[in-house]
Amino acid sequence: MYRDNDISASRYSSKERADWTRLHNTLVNGEIDVLILYETSRAWRKVYEWVPLVELCAENKVLIHVTSDRRTYDPNDDRDWETLLEDGIDSEKESRKISKRVRRAMDANKEQGKPHATPAYGYEIQIDPADHRTKIRVPVPEQAAIVKEVIRRVAQSDPITAIARDLNERGIPSPSVALGLNTEKRSKGKTPLWSPAMIRKMCKNVAYIGKREYVEDGRTIFADGTWEPIVDEELFWKARNLLSDPTRKTTKPGRNKYLLGFLGTCDVCGSYLARMGGRDPYRYRCNADKSCVTIRMDWTDMFIGELVCQRLAKKDIYELLTRQDDADKARVVELEALRADHTTALDLRAKGKLSLLALSQEEERLLPRIAELEQALRPVTIPKALEDLTRDAQGNLQTIRARWAALAIPAKRDVLRTLFKSISIKKTKTPGQHKTGEQVERMLIERVAFEWLNES
Ligand SMILES: [Zn+2]
Repeated sequence: MYRDNDISASRYSSKERADWTRLHNTLVNGEIDVLILYETSRAWRKVYEWVPLVELCAENKVLIHVTSDRRTYDPNDDRDWETLLEDGIDSEKESRKISKRVRRAMDANKEQGKPHATPAYGYEIQIDPADHRTKIRVPVPEQAAIVKEVIRRVAQSDPITAIARDLNERGIPSPSVALGLNTEKRSKGKTPLWSPAMIRKMCKNVAYIGKREYVEDGRTIFADGTWEPIVDEELFWKARNLLSDPTRKTTKPGRNKYLLGFLGTCDVCGSYLARMGGRDPYRYRCNADKSCVTIRMDWTDMFIGELVCQRLAKKDIYELLTRQDDADKARVVELEALRADHTTALDLRAKGKLSLLALSQEEERLLPRIAELEQALRPVTIPKALEDLTRDAQGNLQTIRARWAALAIPAKRDVLRTLFKSISIKKTKTPGQHKTGEQVERMLIERVAFEWLNES
């Protein structure tokens, strides 16, 4: 079987389809029975390539399975052949519409005397040295470095207010200054500084991964741009998703400032923990009623940190985090059986031993359940901070401890959320002084209750 899922295929995309020749040979040599495409429109937008492909499949008795349609087509069947060609034409129509829109927008810009587009911070417009005419967008190294830093830090759950403050303290010119935008009026003569809004905007701008984003027919479309990306795609989406995560916007008091604030709970009544008023050393208290529980923050945080480091020093951690429970195992078995059934049906059809009607009935039975199982078995996402803690650490406790100590509180909280099912503080049984380290430790072991999400 042949899969094609990472090659852009728009008629107007500049990328070359080097794979076309390879696919052509595979089909002609009779190496495959079924060609799997994720979407006709994504796979082949050029009608003048799509038609010969369908013909080639018909000649070589190769079925075409389109994942997004959840259907297998037989190009030798008249109705399927018609559907396939119609799909190809629809796709090209869509592609032309997109291109027309982009061109219209560019024309409008030209009329207003604007350059190609106002470049985002991190880029500048230059004249292409190749033809001395075309305007191209190129990264500005020192700005690109800041973009990289900001997006990486957001992906690591650094609070955006802290990032803005840090950039201002380091005297890094803000985008408005760097781009020479006329913002003097708004900032009343003062130099415009970095703001959380600027950082949020930056983390949402797909220009940094070399793409354009626009909405067409109510759908968001990401199209390839012609410029060089600045930021790694995976990192970018991590940052962008974090910022659009609704839980991040809730403004609970003390949120993100303390390790267990509104994350750990009171063992007596189940309310969250909050910081108790008063001076250093700070204490956590039950947010509902401080007569439930209070406990020293520095000791508790140290204890939790040590739990995490010891846990991460065990090399099985990734296995555990991505481990499947028994229900998942049953799903995997079922999924494999259904996929095998589907492959068998496709094989039989390819050999002419199964009617098209029988195949489509079989697919109606199999495909919805396959989709359901695939959805349920989606891999868990492991936060960036956890990756950073354990990467190449070889289970070395000292290394992990040093990295944990260097993490910002929000990143630590991300790690806790991934590792723990619950952390709660019990009422003290032996109130009074804890003078020696041993007494403190005993008190913590007695009072800090926790449950791991993935027990070995
Ligand atoms: Zn309570």
